[in-house]
Amino acid sequence: MTGDPVPKATYKKRRIGGHELRPESIMMSYGYDPMLSEGAIKCPIFQTSTFVFPTAEAGKAFFELAYGLREPGPSEEPGLIYSRLNNPDLEILEDRLAVWDGAEACAAFESGMAAIATTLLAYLRPGDVLVHSEPLYGGSEHFITTTLPEFGVTPVGFPAGHAMATVGERVRTGVGNRRVPIVYLETPANPTNAMIDIAEVVAFARTLASGGAIPIVVVDNTFLGPLWQHPLRHGADLVIYSATKFIGGHSDLIAGAALGRQSAMAPVRALRTFMGTMAGPWTGWLMMRSLETLKMRMTAQMKNARYVADFLAEHAKVRAVHYLGLLREDDPQFAVYRKQCMGPGSLIAFELDGGEVGAFRFLNALKLVKLAVSLGGTESLAEHPGTMTHADIPPDDQVRMGITPGLVRMSVGVEHFEDLIADLRQALDAV
Ligand SMILES: *Cc1c(COP(=O)(O)O)cnc(C)c1O
Repeated sequence: MTGDPVPKATYKKRRIGGHELRPESIMMSYGYDPMLSEGAIKCPIFQTSTFVFPTAEAGKAFFELAYGLREPGPSEEPGLIYSRLNNPDLEILEDRLAVWDGAEACAAFESGMAAIATTLLAYLRPGDVLVHSEPLYGGSEHFITTTLPEFGVTPVGFPAGHAMATVGERVRTGVGNRRVPIVYLETPANPTNAMIDIAEVVAFARTLASGGAIPIVVVDNTFLGPLWQHPLRHGADLVIYSATKFIGGHSDLIAGAALGRQSAMAPVRALRTFMGTMAGPWTGWLMMRSLETLKMRMTAQMKNARYVADFLAEHAKVRAVHYLGLLREDDPQFAVYRKQCMGPGSLIAFELDGGEVGAFRFLNALKLVKLAVSLGGTESLAEHPGTMTHADIPPDDQVRMGITPGLVRMSVGVEHFEDLIADLRQALDAV
């Protein structure tokens, strides 16, 4: 090695002749050259803080690219410098994550909240308004409604599950003539599964443009992605994940990601370098392991969820089941679902008789399904949003958002569905 630029990767092949390979077929190999690591079939864990430059000239070239001092040459890739800037486990993971959403660029983070906080801070400035859907994941809701106002950013919320024609005017009034750099969405909403039409919000965001700057639309796609919903294809600018959930998938890591086109990701990647919110090599390695089985897991979980939802919908002690797979064709939400989603996923919210007392009896009686927050892992989990994940939201607002005292949220895992149903049946007997 002389100090020449690192040659552009030849192992990022996505085609055999004219045939395009699906994401699940390349998750074991994409972006990794075994010959750079003694032929190891798996990408090793590069547990290192810093990287040796072959020459001073190479080090200079690496920094020129890292700081954007010049454009890369035609076959030049960024060199490895320091693990807060880049690391093979992080870069290969990001290349692989980008494949599922058809994104140009990706940044992996050490948590979903790190992805969300870094992305929002990269775009917002004092005096700005952040428009967001409601309800949101508890951590996002706290950051947006408690932390951001301390930095001079005003949140303006609108409820999920309604057309922008109905809720848009109220948002416009709340914004006034202030700048709106971001419209932030969660669809389907947690825990109610209320849907938002992404393309409709993208069109609405254009009408909030001020001084020629159009707000970017950011979608937290944790609940359905990256298998069953691709927000970038519906006009969103950035998609965000808590990779702790389906992408990690084994309830053994905390991680996050943000994806989108290069220009929209550039401020996020830049701020990540200086906040140091990137994922470490060990997390990157674990997530690459997880991505190999992502499609199998999410497909098995979705199949199980269908059986569980059907069972719950028939049960006398269950008042209502909120599951995308049970939407009726005459429901206005069904049209959004058909347009935007490729599957209903594996999160079910359902209302039990007897309010909080009924819900707690049920949760305490579960044997196979574990009583825990989080979701998307191989094991089934159930929790009580009103007193757990959404406890921060005042009771009146909870009810307005559909978070009733008898509501239970379940994340369906990969167990046998008949075993899950046997457990739910005996726990419902206790209600
Ligand atoms: C869990 C979750 C987050 C936060 O992610 P962490 O990995 O826990 O930091 C954000 N959004 C949604 C929808 C989540 O479920």
